[in-house]
Amino acid sequence: MRDRQEESVAVVYLHAPFCVRRCFYCDFAVTVSPSPPVGSWISALDRELRLVEDEGLFGLARELETLYVGGGTPSLLGPAAMDGVKEVLGPGRLAREDLEWTAEANPESFHREVARRWRQAGVNRLSLGVQSFQAPVLRWMGRLHGPDDAREAVALARREGFANLNLDLLFGLPAEVDREWRKDLEAALALRPTHLSLYGLTVEPRTPLERAVRDRKVSPAGDERYREEFLWAAERLRAEGYRHYEVSNFALPGFESRHNLAYWQLRPYLGLGNSAHSFRFPMRRWNLRDWSAYQKAVGEGKLPVEGEERLSPAQARLERLWLGLRTDAGISSGELPSAGRGLLAGWIRKGWAEWWGSRVRLTAEGWLLLDSLVVELDGVLERSELQRDRGGKGGR
Ligand code: SF4
Repeated sequence: MRDRQEESVAVVYLHAPFCVRRCFYCDFAVTVSPSPPVGSWISALDRELRLVEDEGLFGLARELETLYVGGGTPSLLGPAAMDGVKEVLGPGRLAREDLEWTAEANPESFHREVARRWRQAGVNRLSLGVQSFQAPVLRWMGRLHGPDDAREAVALARREGFANLNLDLLFGLPAEVDREWRKDLEAALALRPTHLSLYGLTVEPRTPLERAVRDRKVSPAGDERYREEFLWAAERLRAEGYRHYEVSNFALPGFESRHNLAYWQLRPYLGLGNSAHSFRFPMRRWNLRDWSAYQKAVGEGKLPVEGEERLSPAQARLERLWLGLRTDAGISSGELPSAGRGLLAGWIRKGWAEWWGSRVRLTAEGWLLLDSLVVELDGVLERSELQRDRGGKGGR
C-alpha cells in the first residue's frame, strides 16, 4: 500500500460555482450569474494552484489520474472553459492515456460547441444533471430544462464522442409534487447511460424548500416512500446489469467513477475553487465558500483556506468504517474484535449485510440505515479498545 503521507496528488477537483438561478432545494456554494466570468474563474484557479504549489503540502503528480470539474453548472462556462483548465494544470498533467476527466453539465447549457470543444480538450466523462424527465417536476425543482432537453443532451454527447455518461436523478420528492418515480427511472434506463447517481432529496437549511416545509406548503417524503423508491431502483438497475457500487451510485461494469473511488479509499486529493475540499491523511481542509471572498483572497496572494481539521485516531477509525460501508468494498470482518464480528453477524441475519469473499458489505436495505449502522459499529469498536487498554494496563 502506498504511503498516503508521501503519495503525490493525482486526483483533482475544480469547483465552478456559477448557475443561472438557484434550484428550489439547492444549498451548494452557488453564485447566481447568467453569464459567468470565465476568465476570472480560470485566473483565480491558476493563482490558487501557484499558492498551493508554493506551500508544498499537496504536491501534484506529474500526470493526474482523475480530474473532476463540478459545480454549480460548469457547462455555463462555455466551450473554452476546459481549454483554460488544461492550461492551468499544464497539458502534461492531463496526458495519461487512462485519465478520467469528468465535467458536469446541465442540459440547457450543453450546446454543440461546448460538447465539441470539451471533448477536444480531453473531457471523457460527462455528468448530466437530469433529475427528472417530467416537466411539472422539473418546474417544481426550479430547473431550466425540459425532458426533451435532457434526451437531446444525451444524444449530442454521444454524437460528439462521450461514451461515458452519468445521469443524476433525484428521488424521494414530496407527495405534493406527484412524481412518477418508476417512469422516470425507466426513461433514464431507455438512454442506457454508463452510470447513474440517485440522490434522495434532503431538506437543507436556508433553502426555499426548507421555508416551504416550515410553512407547511410541502411535506418531505416519508421514510416508507423513500425506502420503497430506493429499493425498487436498486433492484431494477441490478436487473439491467448495473453494479450498485456505492450507496447512491450505479455503473455498468468498468464505468465506476474512479474519482469518487479515490475519495472513498482515503487517497489524497486537491480541490481548487471556492468551497472546494482537499485531503491528505489525516488532514482535511476547505476553501472559503463565497466566490467573491475566495477571488479576493487569491488575488491578494493568500491561500483561500477557511478551515481545516486533523482526524484523531478515533475519527480516522470512524471515517474508515463509514467509507468502507458506503461502498460495496465493505469491511474486513477478520480485522474486527469479536464484539464487532458479532454485530456484523446480526446485520447479516437481518438482511442488512452480506458476505463478499472474506469481507462484509451492506445490502441496499443496509444502506438505508448506513449512518446509524456505522455509529453502532464504531461504538462497539470503541468499547472494545477501551476494554483492551484497561486489560493491558491491569496486566502490567
Ligand atoms: S443547477 Fe445544481 S448547483 Fe445549480 S442551483 Fe441547481 S442544484 Fe444547485
